[in-house]
Amino acid sequence: MADVDATRGTGPVPPDALRAAENGGGAGAFDGVHPPSSELVSDCVHCGFCLTTCPTYVLWGEEMDSPRGRIHLIAQGLEGEPLSESMVTHFDRCLGCMSCVTACPSGVRYDRLIEDTRAQVERRHPRSARDRALRAAIFSVFPYPRRLRLLRGPLWAYRKSGLQGLISRSGLLERLAPTLATLDSLAPRLRRVPRPPRRVAARGTRRAVVGMLTGCVQSAFFPEVNSATVRILAAEGCDVLIPPGQGCCGALSVHNGRRAEAERFARRLIDTFERTGMDYFVVNAAGCGSSLKEYGELLADDPGYAGRAAAFAAKVRDLAELLDELEPVARRYPLPVTVAYHDACHLGHAQGIRAQPRALLRGIPDLELREIAEAEICCGSAGVWNVLNPEAAAELGDRKAAAVLDTGASVLVTANPGCLMQVAAAVRRRGGTIALAHTAQVLDASIRNLGAAALAGR
Ligand code: SF4
Ligand code: SF4
Repeated sequence: MADVDATRGTGPVPPDALRAAENGGGAGAFDGVHPPSSELVSDCVHCGFCLTTCPTYVLWGEEMDSPRGRIHLIAQGLEGEPLSESMVTHFDRCLGCMSCVTACPSGVRYDRLIEDTRAQVERRHPRSARDRALRAAIFSVFPYPRRLRLLRGPLWAYRKSGLQGLISRSGLLERLAPTLATLDSLAPRLRRVPRPPRRVAARGTRRAVVGMLTGCVQSAFFPEVNSATVRILAAEGCDVLIPPGQGCCGALSVHNGRRAEAERFARRLIDTFERTGMDYFVVNAAGCGSSLKEYGELLADDPGYAGRAAAFAAKVRDLAELLDELEPVARRYPLPVTVAYHDACHLGHAQGIRAQPRALLRGIPDLELREIAEAEICCGSAGVWNVLNPEAAAELGDRKAAAVLDTGASVLVTANPGCLMQVAAAVRRRGGTIALAHTAQVLDASIRNLGAAALAGR
């Protein structure tokens, strides 16, 4: 018992931790540090309604690659089964897309179960040298906006030299190193955009003061999305606060079981923003938003931050959610485009935000909105899942690209940089053409009366 208490810090020890400790506290699949909750596991009535919405079950038809199967494996682990290589494989294959949470009629909190399970896997399961090296490389670059920005120069040179086209046409990279091929195909087109200032004043009457997350991938590879977000917020009467050096929100870390790292990022972000006097904290990346809204749970064991984290989380809004709450004041000019809207999983499934972005798009005169078939199935991006599981991610990407192109829309709109990169790569593979834009860029083009040409070729 002493070991369990020591690792948990000063917070109360929950019943599952006690049970895991009594079960050997380390002999079974899980130790006493935030084991997955047996109460949540027992909520599953094995009905199977979640199966057909799970992308890995759709791909492979294997019970253990379904939500129900994974919950069964967690139950086995809680009963004392050791954490086997095969168990870890099935947990690793989960995209964390939360489609099963939407589909489940019993309200099973699979999101909590897999998050706690992943943290156990990362601490307790010895990974292969290749896997360790790949994960170390990913997590020493992706959550650091400055390091990501340093990649822009070499990426630009790689493109300009014609090397990328040559390698991609040869198909050699796919055969030799699918992970590298995936990274190569995902890299977005780079544009030079000046960094946003620290504070942008509301246009007209001020209705709110909002802090804004610039993000890691968003700020390094999609700075024009951040610029559009700032302009929309100002046009809708918001003072926008954008402190530099805000760092990562920790989403990537927490979704991959790196809880301690996620906690560090969360503390830093709270320190950066909590004394700015903001009414809201706005986020334009779905994956970041869903994690930020859970800061209260993430830092619940930290007496210095628990209350502050919960207060911070209560202010978090996705951009579409905030604009819907505020109601529009800026004039929308016509934008004669046909748009297919893709629900990013961490916006639709994890945050339940589906109606607001559609309402924003429908509020633009002359814009026609089309729905994508199989909308609930993930595009295969899922943070860094597509880098860790390149072949399966390409299959899901191809499936999504086909559904997107079937709509006949001229622009694909979504609210997550990962989805934009993933679908863009898949559309390119199929030889299709469709412009890609974040919801913010579409609204911005309408508010500034830029016309449909502003979205073409993105
Ligand atoms: S989170 Fe997604 S991939 Fe994982 S079990 Fe649920 S539906 Fe399947
Ligand atoms: S997770 Fe929900 S939908 Fe899936 S089998 Fe269990 S109770 Fe049924």
